[in-house]
Amino acid sequence: MTNQQLWQAIIGDLEVSLSKANFNTWFKNTGIIEKAEDYIVVGVPSNFTRDWISDKYHATMLKALKSIAPEVKVIKYYVGHFKAENATQPSLMDSAANTPPQEEQKQQENLNPGQKSTSPTKTGGLNPQYTFDTFVVGQNSELAYAASTAVAKSPGSQYNPLFIYGGVGLGKTHLMHAVGNQIQKSDPNLKILYVTSEKFTNDYVAALGQKRMDSFKALYRNVDMLLVDDIQFIAGKEQTQEVFFHTFNELRDKGKQIILTADRLPKDIPAIEQRLVSRFEWGMVADISAPNLETRIAILQTKLGKKGVEVSKEITEFIAENVVNNIRELEGALNKLLIYQQIENKPLTLDQAKNILASIVSAKKKAVTLSKIAESVANFYSITMEDLLKQSRRKEYVKPRQTAMYLARKELGSSFPSIGEFFGGRDHTTVMHGVEKVEKAVTANDGIKQEMELILEKIYN
Ligand code: ADP
Ligand code: MG
Repeated sequence: MTNQQLWQAIIGDLEVSLSKANFNTWFKNTGIIEKAEDYIVVGVPSNFTRDWISDKYHATMLKALKSIAPEVKVIKYYVGHFKAENATQPSLMDSAANTPPQEEQKQQENLNPGQKSTSPTKTGGLNPQYTFDTFVVGQNSELAYAASTAVAKSPGSQYNPLFIYGGVGLGKTHLMHAVGNQIQKSDPNLKILYVTSEKFTNDYVAALGQKRMDSFKALYRNVDMLLVDDIQFIAGKEQTQEVFFHTFNELRDKGKQIILTADRLPKDIPAIEQRLVSRFEWGMVADISAPNLETRIAILQTKLGKKGVEVSKEITEFIAENVVNNIRELEGALNKLLIYQQIENKPLTLDQAKNILASIVSAKKKAVTLSKIAESVANFYSITMEDLLKQSRRKEYVKPRQTAMYLARKELGSSFPSIGEFFGGRDHTTVMHGVEKVEKAVTANDGIKQEMELILEKIYN
């Protein structure tokens, strides 16, 4: 096993459990620089990284080390600069594919604080790996995919803006880049700009502070297409909303295509101006929900095909059956297996695969409790836990309460009386009634179904 393989195996669990941005922030440009009999020396780029990693992730890393190389008992850190060849890439298998240039850039800025960023990049922040070709369409993403291809065919005309919403890791960013990439390919001269809403906000704040509003406007209002990812983060930022409103109007008036993504419907974004909500709804609002089993299998197969690696059918199915809410995690689980397979240098058995993925699969199930569900539900509907539990029949409390009961029943299989007891000593028939009501609503109404998926995601992440 090379040092790099060992390092990948040690941080594999973390790669799966942390968000990509988070993982990259701490583990990019790290690696094992020395392996001795009973210790390894891990090189990290700064004191800050060392303190953070050793504080937060040391235990997880040691645990992984114990199962891979039991003779090694100690992890030491060395702060120094790394050459790219022994530095950790975000993912062993397809690092480039997973890291939007935006993140790369941020990362560079963090590492070289003195260096000024040059935005936008020549590619306008588009990730060339996120194309329509590499996107697997399932029932869950049919509408968003169709709308995206329509926009790619005739930008600025039919669906403007295109608003794609859905839970984390379901392909919103991927689709948005796919449109951009396709249009850029057909006309390399077009100016396409991809930003996250945080980047938009930061650029605005910086421009304001440095009295450079003109260049801010020049940057954002002279594009042929503007892609703003995770627009929900402009919630509560009044000034940013104001400038975004004007940017939006100007671009749209000029017939320039705008694509937005969010984790929820425009009207469900809290603390956002009504005039923005109504504009977001002007064009096309398309959802992406969690993929079903067949789609998950298809996605895994596509990824395997792309990498040119094979994994047995039963293992693919095992992953697809157990990693259900999030395509990013699906990829993460697959990557983790492939790292082990590469180390073993022969096909994994199903049992090995189960062992390797045990932490991902069972950690999720275990972590959820009734109070975790209740908390996530209260949070989602912006009410307090007290409101959720108290004896009020006001509509704005009853719906969340019944939703929490429904989810407790569905996710934990809790008995009706025990749910009733948790919710302020309510009778089990009240619980049954509530659960049934939500059950019916979920089958009858796709919007409610999506709402449940969004809440589930908050519960499990
Ligand atoms: P979101 O923006 O919704 O959080 P992303 O677009 O970042 O999700 O997708 C997460 C990861 O999953 C990316 O690596 C992306 O390429 C992959 N992915 C998501 N949906 C699909 C899909 N339908 N087919 C293939 N890969 C997908
Ligand atoms: Mg995204």
